[in-house]
Amino acid sequence: MRYLVPRMSEHITSIFGEMSTLAAATESINLGQGFPDTDGPEEMKEIARECISAGRGNQYPPPHGLPALREAVAAHQKRFYDLDVDGDTGVVITTGASEALNSAFLGLIDDGDEVLVFEPMFDVYAAGISLARGVRVAVPLSGPGLRPDIDRLRAAVTPRTRVILINSPHNPSGIVFTRAELEAIAAIAIEHDLLVISDEAYEHLWFDDDVHIPISTLPGMFERTVTIGSGGKMFSFTGWKIGWASGPRDLIAAVRVVRQHLTYASGGPFQYAMAHGLGMPDQYYTEYRRSMSEQRDILSAGLATLGFDVIPSQGSYYVTTNVHSIGAPDGLEFCRALPHRARVVAIPHQVFCDDESVGKPYVRWAFCKRPAVLQEAITRLGPLQIPWQP
Ligand SMILES: *Cc1c(COP(=O)(O)O)cnc(C)c1O
Repeated sequence: MRYLVPRMSEHITSIFGEMSTLAAATESINLGQGFPDTDGPEEMKEIARECISAGRGNQYPPPHGLPALREAVAAHQKRFYDLDVDGDTGVVITTGASEALNSAFLGLIDDGDEVLVFEPMFDVYAAGISLARGVRVAVPLSGPGLRPDIDRLRAAVTPRTRVILINSPHNPSGIVFTRAELEAIAAIAIEHDLLVISDEAYEHLWFDDDVHIPISTLPGMFERTVTIGSGGKMFSFTGWKIGWASGPRDLIAAVRVVRQHLTYASGGPFQYAMAHGLGMPDQYYTEYRRSMSEQRDILSAGLATLGFDVIPSQGSYYVTTNVHSIGAPDGLEFCRALPHRARVVAIPHQVFCDDESVGKPYVRWAFCKRPAVLQEAITRLGPLQIPWQP
């Protein structure tokens, strides 16, 4: 790594690389990486195929995204959240939510600006904030239910704080922020005149009564919030890499400036398919949520039966367990040993944390897999020796 710039040196290794290699070497079931093993709607594939054949979108799409897709994003925000987004000026289509996040970081964070973010945090955040030369300030999810620690958030605000970055439904914990938690975060943002970047990649994956609430729907918040969506996560086409940011014109303008120089445009035919997907009837969304919650139940119940302390998953692709309950002292060591002992891969929260002690007991398991695969994983975990022998 002779040539790598110093600010990226802490981002050299990825746990996903390590664990996926281990999964392949041990022929493990990979409940590590969060991608579904079933594709999304056939009708969306058909549109993408037709577009390629008919020559629609095979050349550079418009720089801020296909107008029909921008309008579909705006209509989606209206339909589900009663938000008035201008499809012309308030939306930008990106190469996945990842590019939307990085464009927002690079467009809104300056040298030394502080970004408050709850940890454990999705790994793109740390690297993206470093790219922007910002300073990430991690605030824990705390207590047995891993809830956002609002007092710690308030105490972490300094004159250099520029952005609060939130993610709900939350990766990796599987929690969904409550209205009260969002209101408390909003109050801090308003009091200190901070921007909010809200990563809502799992906005349609909330379960039971734990409804997803975009923070931009709270009073005084739309004007200071960039909301990020992922077509990949919404429609089970993570390889298509179509995402978006939406919000008020002036904030989206800043995101657009950066993004147009990162990739200019991408995924032409897929943009048409996504525009169609966003307009599908409510039944698609409720059925998606129902089937994913069934998968959550299979994995959660199986892990609980084995003796794991399961933190109820309220949303996302993931459920978290506390491995102290089976006598394992350290989630990272547990995850490194697990493929060898049970041929199953999971991801330790520690790798998503600056403060190692915050994530140490916790392990993330992905349930976005077919029920038979989840059942097989539970079967493989059955003979594990518990209490765990390090
Ligand atoms: C997967 C994921 C993303 C990235 O989404 P893409 O559309 O694949 O770029 C962003 N945020 C969270 C929390 C995710 O889990």
